Amino acid sequence: VAKPDAILVADSVTRRFGGLTAVDVDHLEVQRGTITALIGPNGAGKSTFFNLVSGFDTPDAGTWSFDGTDISGKPAYQIARLGMVRTFQLTKALMRLTTLENVMLGAVGQKGERMGVAPLRFLWKAQERQIQARAEELLERFRLSHMRDEFAGTMSGGQRKLLEMARALMVGPSLVMLDEPMAGVNPALTQSLLAHIQALRDEGTSIILVEHDMDVIMSISDWIVCFAEGKVIAEGRPDDIRTNPQVIDAYLGS
Ligand code: ADP
Ligand code: MG
Repeated sequence: VAKPDAILVADSVTRRFGGLTAVDVDHLEVQRGTITALIGPNGAGKSTFFNLVSGFDTPDAGTWSFDGTDISGKPAYQIARLGMVRTFQLTKALMRLTTLENVMLGAVGQKGERMGVAPLRFLWKAQERQIQARAEELLERFRLSHMRDEFAGTMSGGQRKLLEMARALMVGPSLVMLDEPMAGVNPALTQSLLAHIQALRDEGTSIILVEHDMDVIMSISDWIVCFAEGKVIAEGRPDDIRTNPQVIDAYLGS
């Protein structure tokens, strides 16, 4: 049964690839205003679960709701419009756009990743000015203003991660999904990324993230859900997860 303040609730979600059951989640909740982490071995189904609930993949079964609205089977752009977004890695096409254009694309929904700047050209001028103003605010927030007119392809790994977050925030989401936000980021920028994630949470944005660095997970998570072979095998506060025998056995002990 969902707690009163759950922002995302998933029930009986399964996804099979041929004979492999990649996701078989009985029940998973994200509480409003928390940083909730998904941990577990490679191949445990964490990214597949993200793809399913964000509308980028279709499960074999299951229902899930966001902010009290049933969003099962809804396409990604509709889910994003309701306020639940995930970050996306820069594709080759996006590397040839400027930093500002990349962030502005976040406003035209989560299809921009595949369409390039074309959708920006269909905006009304007034709307475009508004979108640009918001994008510039976000560049400022993530200390990327000096990269505004540079091609995104010239950015460092850490700057790209910041850009991906800025783009996701264009729709003013209430839940942000981050799949390995620290991957490929040097230690100096890791701290800054963490501070940004915590600041978002402190402003009331809910966060669900997948991350492998256990120091990071233990220091920023309010709640941790451990996956193994597609299932949730344990969940709890960091101190309880750290010492949970099933988690140690399936993941931490290796
Ligand atoms: P994680 O993110 O926890 O490392 P994934 O969700 O990426 O795990 O993968 C879960 C399992 O599903 C893995 O065994 C993976 O090989 C498989 N899988 C993921 N996507 C596909 C796909 N599109 N086709 C076939 N198998 C897939
Ligand atoms: Mg993954």
